[in-house]
Amino acid sequence: MNNFRADLHCHTTCSDGTLTPEQIVQLAKESGLTGLSITDHDTTDAYEKAIPLAKEAGITLLTGVEFSTVLNKISVHILGYGFHINDPAIIKLCTQHKQRRLDRNLAVLDLLAKQGMSLTYEEVIDAIPVEKASTGRSIGRPHIAFAMVNKGYVQNLQEAFKKYLGDDCPCFIQGDSFTVDETIDTIHQAKGIAVIAHPHLIKNTAILNELLKKEFNGIECYYGNFFTDANQRWVKIAKHRDWLITGGSDFHGSAKPNLSLGRSWIGEEHFQAIINYLSILNQ
Ligand code: AMP
Ligand code: ZN
Ligand code: FE
Ligand code: FE
Repeated sequence: MNNFRADLHCHTTCSDGTLTPEQIVQLAKESGLTGLSITDHDTTDAYEKAIPLAKEAGITLLTGVEFSTVLNKISVHILGYGFHINDPAIIKLCTQHKQRRLDRNLAVLDLLAKQGMSLTYEEVIDAIPVEKASTGRSIGRPHIAFAMVNKGYVQNLQEAFKKYLGDDCPCFIQGDSFTVDETIDTIHQAKGIAVIAHPHLIKNTAILNELLKKEFNGIECYYGNFFTDANQRWVKIAKHRDWLITGGSDFHGSAKPNLSLGRSWIGEEHFQAIINYLSILNQ
């Protein structure tokens, strides 16, 4: 029996996960994963640590990132894989996102303060603690939500998102945004593949249909805690379009405690198809 399993979607303390890059690689090894991609929100900082450690652990590490984009005012996540880690286009987009997040987070804190829920930026950053301050950390809504829990403004993360921080909630503003097309172009410039992240979560059919017309190379068919039936819908779409089939858990550590690393994965056939596609791109 072939035990090859690659989890191509997880987050570290470089964004809103609770395990460090070192801990994720170690956990991947303990979980028996053969392949891994770390897909932090809008940053590739984890790779500096993860690349040598994965090599040591005998795990095939595919470069990855999960970019935030906006399409018709709706937030859409795009996964990039296999790009050159030091590509200037990727570095530039990550840097722009860092500024966008800072501006947006400060604006969200203003709105929360007006509702009597004051938080300092330090309280937000420290809400998901890391051993050493990481310069490239993507700070986002989960950090704010944790800080709100810590201060006793809400009971839990879900309440923070449901009442205040969710896309349509009173204390959330989108701020500057990047389009799907420019994000796909950036990934392609860096010789990577662009993949629709967790289509299972896209409730708006018009948005989904728009996305399916774009220049993606793949779609995340196996995701999170979804069952085979739900995943097959996306496998069918991938096959129909001749797109690559990807999959992963979206592991965030204790920030999303019901998702374990390796919960969703792809086998050798789909992983090899990605590697082959990348090698053609890089010829
Ligand atoms: P941001 O990247 O700052 O816009 O925050 C979006 C992230 O918040 C998502 O990627 C999820 O990890 C997390 N998130 C969104 N909705 C919820 C929710 N209802 N409960 C917990 N986490 C959420
Ligand atoms: Zn996240
Ligand atoms: Fe996502
Ligand atoms: Fe994710």
